[in-house]
Amino acid sequence: MAIVVQKYGGSSVGDAEKIKNVARRIAAAKDKGNEVVAVVSAMGDTTDELVELAYSVTDLPGEREFDVLLSTGEIVSSTLLAMALRAMGYEAISLSGAQAGIRTDAAYSRARIVGVDPVRIVKELDKGRIVIVAGFQGITEEMDTTTLGRGGSDTTAVALAVSLGAEVCQIYTDVEGVYTADPRLVPEAKKLAEIGYEEMLELASYGAKVMHPRAVELGELFNMPIMVASSFTDSPGTLIHGGETMEVRNKVTSIAHDLDVAKITVVGVPDRPGIAAAIFEPLAKANISIDTIVQNASINNITDLTFTVAKSQLRKAMEKVGPIAKSIGAGECVSDAKMGKVTIVGTGMQNTPGFAARMFSALSEKGINIQLISTSEIRITCIIDEEGVKDAVKALHRAFELEE
Ligand code: ADP
Ligand code: ASP
Ligand code: MG
Repeated sequence: MAIVVQKYGGSSVGDAEKIKNVARRIAAAKDKGNEVVAVVSAMGDTTDELVELAYSVTDLPGEREFDVLLSTGEIVSSTLLAMALRAMGYEAISLSGAQAGIRTDAAYSRARIVGVDPVRIVKELDKGRIVIVAGFQGITEEMDTTTLGRGGSDTTAVALAVSLGAEVCQIYTDVEGVYTADPRLVPEAKKLAEIGYEEMLELASYGAKVMHPRAVELGELFNMPIMVASSFTDSPGTLIHGGETMEVRNKVTSIAHDLDVAKITVVGVPDRPGIAAAIFEPLAKANISIDTIVQNASINNITDLTFTVAKSQLRKAMEKVGPIAKSIGAGECVSDAKMGKVTIVGTGMQNTPGFAARMFSALSEKGINIQLISTSEIRITCIIDEEGVKDAVKALHRAFELEE
């Protein structure tokens, strides 16, 4: 019997009716003779509400308690889904991340899966049961609950697909696959039939939240194909894979955008060896991840240093950077929380000139000012004002002829 691993996201299990719909889909996979493991996210906006609840009690919820609290959202949806299946006459059992054998490190709120011991899952499958696993969570060596980072249920699913030897990991969501841009922003966006891990990882890392970046990373590492499709329709989805059959196109594949960007500039930084380390080491120690960094050319050995962080980390980053700037003899630190980024991705861009120029002119035609630029071999990212992001994505979609 084939093992099928499916994952259903928050909007797919948003209310009782939707949970019943998912139960019917899981039952159909079971009826085809498969052994079925389904990973679920929390219902609708539950995780956001739990975050809000924690901060309504205190400014400092404490990372351990915070993760236990957040993990309860997936416990609710997984138990309800198992109940729905049982009501339909199917043998189903829900397991928490810990019971499912998801072992993680102790980096709360962004824990990494260090191993999966699916003993209990296998035992339940052997009894003929459907196994429902609470996504987004795991357990440390000390038996403390951790969460994997927002959107992390995708990663639970891919890790389980790998450890159970599934042929493909099926991710069911509220859109029909991976599109040439977020279909909620660009209605003309086209669904891709397939995409390589490398491109998908860049898209996910730069804001296309249809997949959790670490799920794509895991998929690539273990060569696990990932099928992204709708939990509401039966349309064919998008296959994320590393196969050879991919058409190599001299083209941009898709556009990602991210509104979770804040910018910090340290003005008047003395330009001498060791200064960048003096600024960024303490930020790394405080678990603040830095994205784009730009250092201006120095005039009279004085320069400005600008970098971006997630909006949620701005306050913490400013608290760290202020004293450092003082200690190295720099001037003031200024920040802007209203930034965003737009990214074009495509392996076809490699070694082909002209993509950057086309991107910049499409943005300038819309009067959008580019503040920072960062690139990889298959990606160009522009940091712009938050308010220009929507227009920028639409303009780029048109400029690179993605609606055709
Ligand atoms: P789930 O709750 O199922 O995990 P998410 O909300 O995390 O779903 O991800 C699905 C959403 O990702 C879609 O509703 C869509 O708005 C967004 N998205 C962003 N970029 C893309 C893209 N390129 N293709 C498809 N969806 C995208
Ligand atoms: N419920 C978690 C979140 O909202 C995890 C997930 O949905 O994948 O981020
Ligand atoms: Mg998601």
